[in-house]
Amino acid sequence: MKDSKGLILVYTGNGKGKTTAALGTALRCLGYGCKVCMIQFIKGDWHYGELDAVKRLAPDFEIHRMGKGFYHIMGDKVPEKEHREAAERALAFAREKMLSGAYRLIILDEILVSVQVNLIPEKQLLDFIQDKPDTIDLILTGRGAGDAVIQIADLVTEMKEIKHPFQKGIPGKKGIDF
Ligand code: ATP
Ligand code: MG
Repeated sequence: MKDSKGLILVYTGNGKGKTTAALGTALRCLGYGCKVCMIQFIKGDWHYGELDAVKRLAPDFEIHRMGKGFYHIMGDKVPEKEHREAAERALAFAREKMLSGAYRLIILDEILVSVQVNLIPEKQLLDFIQDKPDTIDLILTGRGAGDAVIQIADLVTEMKEIKHPFQKGIPGKKGIDF
């Protein structure tokens, strides 16, 4: 698979399924012996099942949570500066991982939210994409993909909410939502 040209895939929109689509793609890629690294922006302490699942796939699959939790919602008390520094650290770390040559697939989970809320200037993400080695596939997730990212991507899928249990007051479910 080393000879095929790497793609830029974007999962965006307000419906559910962006992060899980990225995880599904990772699973598929792992099946061919490829190494996968997912870096999560925004996401902080909240527990997700995939964090434990990937331990069984180590060292081929890594997830690094590098956010400070919800930004400006759900009673966020983290100073702006800390959110910003965490986002910068995450992007710098992702760049190191991408350029290390160790991975075939790099996933920047929720990066598009970080850009949308201005924790990361869009230009920095575009520069990151520009620096992507040819052989690496890159997945970007998060609501609100901007026009420039959509332009540059090879695949853009918008998850569109038709129905969500949340509308009926059903809270997030273990194994489905986290
Ligand atoms: P998932 O991680 O399940 O693939 P996602 O990445 O598309 O979802 P995010 O915008 O990252 O969704 O939101 C993360 C959390 O919000 C998940 O627990 C998800 O189930 C929940 N969620 C996603 N879409 C909706 C929605 N339309 N209404 C309410 N909750 C949602
Ligand atoms: Mg998500």
